[in-house]
Amino acid sequence: MQSFEWVDAESVEQAVSLLGEGNERQPVVAKAGGMDLLDLMKNGVVAPHRVVNLKTIKGLDGVRFDAKQGLELGALVTLARLSRESEVRRRYVALADAAEHAATPQVRNAATIGGNLLQRPRNWYFRNEYFHQASGDISERARAGENQYDAIFDNQRTVLVHASTPATALVAYGASVELTGPGGKTRMVPVSDFLLPPDMKRSTDTVIAPNELLTRVRLPALGAGTKAAYHKQGERESYDWPICDVAVVLQMDGKVIRQAAIVMGWVAPTPRRVAEAEKLLVGKTLDEGLARQAAKAAVEGATPLSKNAYKVPVLEAVVRRTVLAAAAA
Ligand SMILES: Cc1cc2nc3c(=O)[nH]c(=O)nc-3n(C[C@H](O)[C@H](O)[C@H](O)COP(=O)(O)OP(=O)(O)OC[C@H]3O[C@@H](n4cnc5c(N)ncnc54)[C@H](O)[C@@H]3O)c2cc1C
Repeated sequence: MQSFEWVDAESVEQAVSLLGEGNERQPVVAKAGGMDLLDLMKNGVVAPHRVVNLKTIKGLDGVRFDAKQGLELGALVTLARLSRESEVRRRYVALADAAEHAATPQVRNAATIGGNLLQRPRNWYFRNEYFHQASGDISERARAGENQYDAIFDNQRTVLVHASTPATALVAYGASVELTGPGGKTRMVPVSDFLLPPDMKRSTDTVIAPNELLTRVRLPALGAGTKAAYHKQGERESYDWPICDVAVVLQMDGKVIRQAAIVMGWVAPTPRRVAEAEKLLVGKTLDEGLARQAAKAAVEGATPLSKNAYKVPVLEAVVRRTVLAAAAA
């Protein structure tokens, strides 16, 4: 790892200004929990000239709930806190469960929700310095190589999937991120538009500008009949990345489903919402047969790669179980 300057930022304004001083020759990067950034630096994929530590900024670690406005999370809220915060667990259970099942207890204690959404792909080729220096596209190497965990949908341009699992739940809840730029100017972007298909030519897989900070995550207030569930399916229970994950948010009127959001992570370059499956549920009372139909619709059109066709039936089962779990919540 090459040496670099370290700055403990005192305010959002200062951090934004420091990030704005970076350029291609002397990159300046933000660090929150450092769980992804330090891995990338140790792997030789990222070599910053200066690291701006965000953890020293006060006031970015709040969790605020308001019955009308919904939930507001500071970018520095850790995944550990998110998983046990009572308002999150009680009202946004799919997000609490997604945070609880990400990574390991040690990682969750340091990792922040902002950094989690901005992490880079967990793809073997992407994480290897050699493939960044060699000619050829990383996605094409994965397509022709070890693609067990890569995309089974929308994989024509890239086979890499976005790594964040809390993002799956955030998209299902219709969450947005607040980005703050120079002069304190803020803009709100839905998480579904914030995440971009991974691309090795960019330094981020999101729409954030080099001189912006992710400052908050906002989730809308939910109606009285909202029910939700989340499931992450890995090869083992802990310390692992998913094969796929699914978040379901249902707006129920008694036993009848009025609105549905079904979002699938780790199966497409960005979390994939499945309108066809959602439509099947609306206006109906859920039973095992309907959940089965919705799950079948959710995997329609999959285009698996040479080594990941196994993901299709796994995903179908996870969608069916998560829809049933949401309705029964
Ligand atoms: C064994 C293991 C298993 C894991 N399993 C999962 C899993 O199942 N699901 C999952 O989602 N993750 C998983 N992770 C990844 C982990 O959750 C992420 O690395 C972590 O959430 C990143 O957050 P951070 O705060 O440490 O980000 P950092 O590493 O500090 O930052 C990540 C990126 O975001 C930028 N950044 C950070 N904060 C901001 C901000 N506020 N504004 C602008 N830019 C910012 C940084 O410059 C950097 O590019 C796993 C990790 C390990 C080691």
